[in-house]
Amino acid sequence: MDFNDTPEEAAFRKQVRAWLDANAERLKPGETNPGLAEGRGSPDLIKKAQAWQAKKADAGWACITWPKKYGGRGATAIQNMIWNQEEGRCKTPPNVFGIGQGMLGPTIMVHGSDEQKDRYLRPMLRGEEIWCQLFSEPSAGSDLAGLRTSAVRDGDDWVINGQKIWTTGAQYCKWGMIVTRTDPTAEKHKGITYFIVDMQSPGIEIRPIKQINGASGFNEVFFTDVRVSDRNRVGAVNEGWRGAITTLMNERASIGGGVGGGPDFNDLVRMAKETQWDGRPAFADSDVRQRLARFYIRMKGLQYTSYRTQTALSRGETPGPQSSIGKLVGAPLRQEMAGFAIDLEGAAGSMIDKLLAPEEGAWQQSYLASPGLRLAGGTDEILRNIIAERVLGLPPEIRADKGMAFKDIPTGANK
Ligand SMILES: Cc1cc2nc3c(=O)[nH]c(=O)nc-3n(C[C@H](O)[C@H](O)[C@H](O)COP(=O)(O)OP(=O)(O)OC[C@H]3O[C@@H](n4cnc5c(N)ncnc54)[C@H](O)[C@@H]3O)c2cc1C
Repeated sequence: MDFNDTPEEAAFRKQVRAWLDANAERLKPGETNPGLAEGRGSPDLIKKAQAWQAKKADAGWACITWPKKYGGRGATAIQNMIWNQEEGRCKTPPNVFGIGQGMLGPTIMVHGSDEQKDRYLRPMLRGEEIWCQLFSEPSAGSDLAGLRTSAVRDGDDWVINGQKIWTTGAQYCKWGMIVTRTDPTAEKHKGITYFIVDMQSPGIEIRPIKQINGASGFNEVFFTDVRVSDRNRVGAVNEGWRGAITTLMNERASIGGGVGGGPDFNDLVRMAKETQWDGRPAFADSDVRQRLARFYIRMKGLQYTSYRTQTALSRGETPGPQSSIGKLVGAPLRQEMAGFAIDLEGAAGSMIDKLLAPEEGAWQQSYLASPGLRLAGGTDEILRNIIAERVLGLPPEIRADKGMAFKDIPTGANK
């Protein structure tokens, strides 16, 4: 492992810093950007996010890994990592574009028609049109290929009926990408077709889901006879699983290692030093120091694992399934650190109001967001399966429905 920038990487970092210093404010020590949980869908925050995105796009700093022909700069993965590190040190609005730019845009680049690439990629890059991912259903999450939302051909259109759930941002998105069942007589991965759908189409009903922290980041989305033109089909009929896999691979790559912002280990140590217990700092308590030491060990393990990824990227290699470790270790660590911080806050820890709670309720927000982190983009159990099968070489899971037509899989819904 080499933790230092190569001369080329250092020169790139300097260029990035120069632009950011001229166009954005730096975060002060201990300061964090507003999380997505805090008013993700507020029109004001979305406008701010769009203005920042347009500014980056004008200067050639939007979606830097995208090919130049789509408005990117063809940057390498390590340059992208450097950009993210440097942008992360600045005051910026929440990123509401990640699903489109990180997952759906790259899918259109691989599987979309030329017409789709011309129409959709530029406004996506500039943040003018925001996108959502219509994959999960009430009975299809980890087992996405079990999806039941149907699309039936009718002339030049397809007619979609069914329900999606957990759709992040559906309430403010212009476009969605949806996977549908088009041939129930085929095996479950084989009868799926992928479409781009206008979220304002007649027949779409979006119901925000109220979360434990009071925010509504995601939604239920109901489809009743929604018409989508065949021109909006992405890839061939009944071959949508290939596109879905491209989206999911990009999802793993974009959120795989990270567990979002919010307060960190250094904030926890500072709090332990500032919190008084019976006239002494909590930090003087040996149990507190032991807990902190255990967090520190896990945090350092994660940091060095991320350096391995950075080194692989720097050498032009693709990090393997071991990058699943980042979220698998990071999300529970964040949950435990937040729980411990709330304990340190004593009775005041039960408040979440920004104006009343200690540290402006940042630990409470972090605690309430962390269960979602352990599910989104692959649950803890699914990530363990990936590590078991693809890193450790253990035998794969038994797949009892292999080779069966989707309609014959014995589930409650098929009876
Ligand atoms: C914050 C957040 C944002 C999201 N945004 C979106 C979005 O924008 N679009 C979208 O389509 N979806 C979104 N999702 C949904 C997400 O993709 C699913 O929650 C995830 O795939 C898990 O599916 P599920 O919730 O149906 O749980 P299930 O798959 O039903 O799992 C239930 C439990 O069973 C376990 N389990 C399932 N299969 C196995 C197995 N084979 N081996 C061992 N254990 C197993 C799981 O780990 C879990 O504990 C979001 C979720 C969250 C939390």
